[in-house]
Formats: sequence, C-alpha cells, structure tokens
Amino acid sequence: MAKIVVLGSSFGGLTAAFELKRLLGKEADVSVISDDDRFVFLPSLPWLIMGWRKPEDITLKVGEILKPKGINFIHEAAKQVDPDAAKVLTATQTVPYDYLVISTGPYLSFDEIPGLGPDKGYTDCTFTLDHAVRTGQTWKRIIENPGPMVLGSAQMVSCFGPSYELAFEMDTELRRMGIRHKVPIIYLTSEPYVGHMGVGGLGKSKRFIEDEFAERDIKPVVNQAIEEVTQEEIRLKDGTKIPFKLAMIAPPFKGVAAVAPLGNPRGFIPVDKNYRHTKYKNVFAVGVAMAIAPPEQTPVPIGVPKTGFMTVKMAKTAAETIASEIKNRALPLPEELSVVCLMDMGNTAAYMKAKPVLPPRQETTLKKALWAKWMKLGFERYFLWKMKHGLSNLP
Ligand SMILES: Cc1cc2nc3c(=O)[nH]c(=O)nc-3n(C[C@H](O)[C@H](O)[C@H](O)COP(=O)(O)OP(=O)(O)OC[C@H]3O[C@@H](n4cnc5c(N)ncnc54)[C@H](O)[C@@H]3O)c2cc1C
Repeated sequence: MAKIVVLGSSFGGLTAAFELKRLLGKEADVSVISDDDRFVFLPSLPWLIMGWRKPEDITLKVGEILKPKGINFIHEAAKQVDPDAAKVLTATQTVPYDYLVISTGPYLSFDEIPGLGPDKGYTDCTFTLDHAVRTGQTWKRIIENPGPMVLGSAQMVSCFGPSYELAFEMDTELRRMGIRHKVPIIYLTSEPYVGHMGVGGLGKSKRFIEDEFAERDIKPVVNQAIEEVTQEEIRLKDGTKIPFKLAMIAPPFKGVAAVAPLGNPRGFIPVDKNYRHTKYKNVFAVGVAMAIAPPEQTPVPIGVPKTGFMTVKMAKTAAETIASEIKNRALPLPEELSVVCLMDMGNTAAYMKAKPVLPPRQETTLKKALWAKWMKLGFERYFLWKMKHGLSNLP
C-alpha cells in the first residue's frame, strides 16, 4: 500500500487528498498534515470583513470531513521535509511517505516591510480568517469615525483580487451610508497599472478598472514599493507619504519555511506540467506553494496569482498522476491552466476569464453584470458543500 502524505488542508490539500483516496481506495494510505484544523473558504473573507458573513458560515472542520473518506488527519505544522529520506518532520513525529503533495500556500511575509501587518505593525490584512476578523473591527471603527483609507498590495504580492473587491465593496457601503465624502480612498499597488493582477492584465481590465475607479472616486497609485509603515502613514520607496486611518495592504508572499528549501529563492516549488518537483520525483506541489514565472519583468517585482480554481485543477492533475503511476497506467496530459475569476464589486460584480493564464492568449472575457454576483454567491455555497461531502470529482 502506497503511503501518501499531503501537506495543507485548503483548496489544494483537500482536493488532492480526496482525489487520491477516490482513485486509489485501499491501494493508498492517505494522510493530511495541516497546522489548521479548519477549511476556510478564503474568497469570502472580504464579505466577512464587510460584516456580510460570520466565520462559521465559511468554515468546515477538516478532521470531520476527512474521516468518513478514510483519510488520516494530523493536526500539526510540518516543520521540515527531508526529500532524500522521504520524511516529513513535525514537532512530535516523523512521517515517512512514498509520495508527498505540498499545498502549504503562502507565508505572509510582513517582516520584509517595517510596520506592515496586524501583528507587529499598523496595517490590516484580508488573507487569513483571524486577520479578516480584525480588519472587520477596524472597518467598524472607520464607519463610526471616518477618515482616509488605503487599500492595495505591497511588492512581491501574488494575489490582487481581494484588494480590488474590498475597494469596490467599501465604496458601495460608504455611499449607502451617505458618508463616502468623508472617506478618501487610495488604491496603492505594486502592479505597473491597475488591472494587471500579476498576469499582464485580462483583456480590457486596465481600462475597465481605471474607468470604475474614476466613476467611484478611488485614486490609484500604481507601480509602488513600500519602504515602511508608521502608525499614521505609509512611506513609499520614492519618498511619497500616504496618511491613513485604515490601511489594508497585502504583504509580500513567500513559500512556508518547512518546504522553502525545496523551492526557488522565494521558497516556491519548481514543478513540471504534472506538478511534479523538477528534482524529487515523488514530490508534487500545487496551488500557491508552486512556482510560476511572471509573464514579464515589472518595475516593482510582483508574483503570478494561483487562484482557487487553478489550485483545484493542479491538485486533480497531481492526484491523477500519482494514481496512474501507482497503477502502472499512462500519465495524464494536463491541459493548460486558465483563470476564471468572479470579482465582487459591492453593488455588482465582474466575470473574468483568461485562457491560458499568461499572455499571449487564445481567449479573454471581462463582463460586468449582476449575474456574476449571483454566480459568486453560488460558487461559495457549492464549493463548501462539495468539500463537506468530499465530492472532489465534481467540477
Ligand atoms: C481573501 C482571498 C480571496 C480570494 N478570492 C478568490 C476568488 O474569488 N476566486 C478564486 O479562485 N481564488 C480566490 N482566492 C485564492 C484562493 O483562496 C487560493 O488560490 C487558494 O486558497 C490556494 O489554495 P492552497 O491550498 O494552495 O493554499 P492555502 O489556501 O493558502 O492553504 C494552505 C494550507 O496549508 C496549511 N499550512 C501552511 N503551512 C503549513 C505547515 N507548515 N504545515 C502544515 N500545513 C501548513 C494551511 O493551514 C492551509 O491549510 C482568494 C484568496 C484570498 C486570501
């Protein structure tokens, strides 16, 4: 029986574990190691900040959903991977593997910018449930005592969508409350232009976001790196100082420490088209943990996003590859990844599609429509239902 260890229990980890068990049954002993015993539907964190969701609406207990499928759950952080000995080390045990799937997501590297982040600094963040809960409290204070807000992304970020969503959602809510004129909003970003999103833009996304920001009086400040943050202001590397009452800034991304030695200088894991490590043939990496080279060199360095949709596709391909190898079958030939994204805009939403992820592309679509908002609501309910029942084979 093959012993397969999956690191992480989010989009990538759960999908890989369910698929491996589904494809291999008794031929595989599948274990998930994760430092978080909750699956959090991260795309709904902006809604949680706005007060439109509670943590329990978007959270599942990992142990409870893995157990019925016969998958072991080890609720511990991986401290180290020894790829030569094929072992994962936690604080209390050594776990050997025949195959390893790494889906540990990003390390949020607040420390790279003095004063950044909710723990040791002055800025808020939307990337974890706990950070989003705290940002929701800051948001309530802004409503009671309005003042300038700065939303956006620092250098080396590779997930831009949530900051755009929050800018649109907060604009919508402030107008609804009749206090928008008391809250100047700056959209500060390391992207070379708004709508770049780390993928060189999607069709007309530059013009689309510029027009929306102009109509909503959101001031874009692009192509910027942050030097430091103080209690009152963000100091940019070019010397500009931006005062704020609420600053919600996405931090630089790195690979997590336990797996970073297997990766590139930023700790992201190099893989082939089946998501197999380029050096260690029994190690796979999917989702945010794997490396994709940027489509172009930007003046301020940024990364390529790996969306939930992409992560699920990667996890399915990795699982199918491992299962095929164990069963001595031909390996799958994965199709090129595409981006499908639903961006909430408060009073409406946008549907974005880019195929393939990086330009030049065969296809791009960008449509603003209320139906996209309904699709986003449906995606949340559907994905949580699918994960709760381990139905990873569904689209
Ligand atoms: C606010 C927000 C909004 C988003 N909106 C969308 C959207 O609308 N559409 C979309 O497609 N995508 C969206 N995304 C992106 C999507 O959430 C990610 O693509 C997806 O979460 C990536 O999954 P992952 O499994 O690679 O990593 P993650 O989701 O980051 O999960 C990493 C897992 O690894 C675990 N872990 C970390 N370190 C260790 C360790 N040392 N040992 C063991 N376990 C560890 C974590 O606890 C976690 O379970 C959004 C992301 C955020 C943050």
